Amino acid sequence: MIDFTLKLYKKLIISLLEQNYKIFTFEEFCKGERAEKFIILRHDVDEMADNALEMAKIEKALGVRATYNFRTVKQSNKPDIIRAIAALGHEIGYHYEDLAFADGDFEHAISTFRQNLEYFRQFYLVKTVCMHGSSTSKYDNRDLWKYHSIEDEGLLGEPYLSINFDNIYYISDTGYRWDGFKTAVRDVVKSGFSNVYHHTNDIILAVKNNEFPAQAMILAHTLWSNNFFKWTGIWSREFFRNNIKKISKKNKFINKIYSYFVKLYWER
Ligand SMILES: [Zn+2]
Repeated sequence: MIDFTLKLYKKLIISLLEQNYKIFTFEEFCKGERAEKFIILRHDVDEMADNALEMAKIEKALGVRATYNFRTVKQSNKPDIIRAIAALGHEIGYHYEDLAFADGDFEHAISTFRQNLEYFRQFYLVKTVCMHGSSTSKYDNRDLWKYHSIEDEGLLGEPYLSINFDNIYYISDTGYRWDGFKTAVRDVVKSGFSNVYHHTNDIILAVKNNEFPAQAMILAHTLWSNNFFKWTGIWSREFFRNNIKKISKKNKFINKIYSYFVKLYWER
């Protein structure tokens, strides 16, 4: 059965609600909201912002709020969509990659970070940010916080700094699979959990059987689609990309070519 359709996404959220999970935005979590069973629901809008709006509507219909992190690249930064998602009651966050864009120039990176944060605050009073993995850059965007503090920027949290993933289970659909941490370069966390799921149905089954961790952050990118052609296109691309990533981890030449095309693809 094909995975990562919006239909299946809806099923996943319903299964969590049926098993009495409370669903929080990351901002709510940072403000101290807790429950016996809870999910911090996070979406990194790397691209296909229109898909994000579809997910946001599904959640709204189920009475759920989530965090949508937007980038400054054109594929993500669509003002009408950001406004519409905020209007549905969701949290807007900034998916920053300033250090990678600044080629490691910390001065420049913090200055563009502040400008971009201001920009996104016209849509929503942004209180949380989250780094973009920038897998082809040698710079880790989080390193910005070695010299600056998020509190000074009026922020409450950054998942990779603010959450102890030994206590809160982390799962991400990076690369159109829930067990893609093998190919992820930076979207990986140290974890005290050994639960591994491949298909969304595996998660739904675990939730129903009460085997899914009681407290988790779910990162769902916004590539889920009910449109068969769109879905097939994304699936093929992710399959190709996962393999290229694997190869370019070991081969510097391939890595250079891949990085070049990645730079071309993301318009600023
Ligand atoms: Zn990202």
